[in-house]
Amino acid sequence: ADTADHGILAGLDSEQRAAASVPEGPLLIVAGPGTGKTRTVTHRIAHLVLEREVPARECLAITFTRRAAQEMTERLDTLVGAPARDITVATFHSLGLSVLREKPELLELPADFGVADAAEQHRVLAEVTGDERAARRLRPAISRDRRASAPATPDSAEGDRDGEAGDVLPRYLAALRERGLVDYDDLLALPVHLLESDARVREEYRQRFRWITVDEYQDVDDLQYRMLRLLAPGEANLTAIGDPDQAIYAFRGADVRFFLRFTQDYPRAPVVSLTRNYRSGTHIVAGALRAIRPGTLVADRDLRAMRDDANATQRIQLHRAADERAEAAYVARTIDQLLGGTSLHSLDSGRVEGDGDGRLGFGDIAVLYRTDAQSRAVLDELARCGFPAQKRSHDPLTARGGVEHILRELTRASTTVPSDGVAVVERVRGAAEAFLATLSESDRAEHAAAVHGAVELLTPLAERYGTDVAGFCHEVLLGAEVDAVDPRADAVSLLTLHAAKGLEFPVVFVVGCEDSLLPLRWPGTELSDDALAEERRLCFVGMTRARDHLYLTRAVRRTRHGEARDTRPSPFLNELRDSSEAITSDTAPARPRRSAHQLSLL
Ligand code: ATP
Ligand code: MG
Repeated sequence: ADTADHGILAGLDSEQRAAASVPEGPLLIVAGPGTGKTRTVTHRIAHLVLEREVPARECLAITFTRRAAQEMTERLDTLVGAPARDITVATFHSLGLSVLREKPELLELPADFGVADAAEQHRVLAEVTGDERAARRLRPAISRDRRASAPATPDSAEGDRDGEAGDVLPRYLAALRERGLVDYDDLLALPVHLLESDARVREEYRQRFRWITVDEYQDVDDLQYRMLRLLAPGEANLTAIGDPDQAIYAFRGADVRFFLRFTQDYPRAPVVSLTRNYRSGTHIVAGALRAIRPGTLVADRDLRAMRDDANATQRIQLHRAADERAEAAYVARTIDQLLGGTSLHSLDSGRVEGDGDGRLGFGDIAVLYRTDAQSRAVLDELARCGFPAQKRSHDPLTARGGVEHILRELTRASTTVPSDGVAVVERVRGAAEAFLATLSESDRAEHAAAVHGAVELLTPLAERYGTDVAGFCHEVLLGAEVDAVDPRADAVSLLTLHAAKGLEFPVVFVVGCEDSLLPLRWPGTELSDDALAEERRLCFVGMTRARDHLYLTRAVRRTRHGEARDTRPSPFLNELRDSSEAITSDTAPARPRRSAHQLSLL
């Protein structure tokens, strides 16, 4: 009956349905984690196409990562069927790249322009500055500058910037163009420039994409914001969806203020909120709210846990270990217990489905951390126990050793060898071997491990693309490591907190819940209020990835940068510590009390 009443929106609750069925014009959906934002926006597009006669080719869905785009494409295929092929699902970067591919001549780019990956950008910068070290330092500075502030073109950048990055930028861009290249930031900056300066092109894209949705709107940066304002002015059909309390990309130029001023930019926009969390157990929702409350950007946050199954009342586990190795051992031991205590002995038993009979597999588990360095101890321990793991960051795929070479070989091979229907997975392997074959014996020894690692990393992506080499190369060029997570892999996921955004797992460990790791800061330095607030949001994002089991661990003593130091607990968990949502456990020896004498010396 529900289906008959609500059609495609039957899979949504009443709040979600109200949001998904807003007829036209701008719309803001503000909602906390796990409330079905992504699900709602996907259903909204399906509803528009199937039930409101919106042409699929006029729909543009913008997602934060390539992986999210892939997932949304799959869901739309299921919901909408054949017309889904005409819906554009893109990240800002892939949208920008399509604009450049369609209009290279208007930007004085050669038709066959290339996109410089991190290594190539570095080479160009090093040549321009004549200094490797300066190049390394300037690359992130230039990128951040370009994404967070106004000038979008080489000429407008000149003069109004002080500092080294501003100085070098015009020369760097000129050198890129000489080589027929654009860089990642150009993928946004050039289309914005084009849309700003050419009214005809602007109108063309406005007509093309008359229905736009943007997921994770809280993390747009200046260029992305400007692109949206150009594509969707005044009363356009723009749906923005997000959660200000999950804004975690300021370090890359994102600015949550764009979200907060949506209703000024689009005064006609209704604001709809979703309040029911379907993802996490009751204690996880309550505990996460405790952690975010002192810094929340959503004054009247309303978030209620909907789950009432057997797992819904699992309490959050706070664990205190002696050092990072003991912390990793706790993670491995707990995984072993969760998997039924047999995994240490019968590893070849294969994946045990998390959903079907309620038993967990390695693929249901994520270990999240603030800094990449923390993954080492966990990886080592998992390897020691023979537990499979896949580690992914939010860095670009091309920044990973070996990926660049494989990509170059693939592009070279695909222009010289006729397409012969060879699956890519095989092509990737072939490209890796071809690259290794060009090296001398000693270079090969140096590169071989990285190249094999890269093949492993790229395999799930390659499988997705089958024989579509161009599509695969495009994906690798624009993707982050996290986009290459294989969701079906029978392996524990090791992710940075940033990379875990938007994802969910039945079991989540957040390791290193310590002051100076979460929040992250150099010992002895203070964070600005803004930076501290962002770290708190990162903690909130991490906690809310968990469906059933959440473990927050810390080491009492940790070695960082080669130096072992005593730590203090994360201040974000202060209120959680004595609450009924959490239980604590301890494997660290009690710290020896300082004597009165020692105290007087401190
Ligand atoms: P985040 O803020 O982390 O991105 P989100 O708001 O986008 O979260 P989703 O990922 O869309 O949330 O949904 C969270 C989980 O809740 C998913 O497993 C989804 O399938 C489930 N879910 C959402 N809405 C419903 C619903 N109406 N009925 C049942 N399950 C739902
Ligand atoms: Mg989401």
